[in-house]
Amino acid sequence: MEDKRLYSPKQIKRVLDKYGFTFSKSLGQNFLIDGNIVRKIVEEANITKETYVLEIGPGMGTLTEELAINAKKVIAVELDRKLLPILDETLDDYDNVEVVYGDILKIDVRQLIDEKLSGGPIKVVANLPYYVTTPIIGKLLEDGLNISSINVMVQKEVAERMIATPGSKSYGSLSVFVNFYTNPQIVVKVPNTVFMPKPKIDSAVIKLEIKDNLPDIDREKFFKVVKAAFSKRRKTIINALSTYGFDVEKDIIRDALEKSGIKQEERAENISVEDFIKLSTILPPLNI
Ligand code: SAM
Repeated sequence: MEDKRLYSPKQIKRVLDKYGFTFSKSLGQNFLIDGNIVRKIVEEANITKETYVLEIGPGMGTLTEELAINAKKVIAVELDRKLLPILDETLDDYDNVEVVYGDILKIDVRQLIDEKLSGGPIKVVANLPYYVTTPIIGKLLEDGLNISSINVMVQKEVAERMIATPGSKSYGSLSVFVNFYTNPQIVVKVPNTVFMPKPKIDSAVIKLEIKDNLPDIDREKFFKVVKAAFSKRRKTIINALSTYGFDVEKDIIRDALEKSGIKQEERAENISVEDFIKLSTILPPLNI
């Protein structure tokens, strides 16, 4: 049985040879070849026969197959046309999977959820193409989509930035962004040997549980403040914000910092998400 599953090296080799498939580095193609990791990703996402799943980048269908076995329905969005005939064959046994050709960054995901995944809530599960990890996560979180969790393989260093807390070296605007929308957690760290071809870096599976109730604030303004604060992480927060070009007097920024309980000589890397939220609501409108 194990031999028939897509993650068995024998099956992968057979498929690659049959279709003369060659990996595209620029599309971030590093396929999973390890059954334990494939099972672990799906297990940690708590997929049941009631779950609607969106997969990004099915590749030759290794993770998709495990998802199909466990989920109610899987929509898999793939950008490489060369993989479509392969997926036709590898997923032929599963009638609860549909492969959609396209770029996840361009596709209307809301429409996809409404038309093909019962309107949600859905779970996103993927071994992401690393060259577009942050834009994909950004799109999924910012658009207010009906998603309950995102379980994805990313570069280890990116996963560490996502879960970082104030005061740690990896804490930055990505940490604030991810922690604003979700409760993030690293599920497992993964060596490069589970992929074909082997990437140079190590990876990690991250689980993002989307928060139900987000603070009712001007998000655009909030993220502008965060971006400005981290644009000069070595500077004090007062200097970073007052030289960013917001066209707000230094004294007004000083006053807003004081009212938010943030010391003016503090650095962005020590400021919590909650304090950034307070600060952004107290600051006057920002014109860039
Ligand atoms: N899920 C497969 C696995 O684990 O073996 C493949 C994962 S591979 C890291 C990433 C996949 O995403 C590739 O199949 C690649 O062609 C696809 N991909 C790359 N950019 C994409 C995009 N913008 N939209 C959708 N799929 C994309």
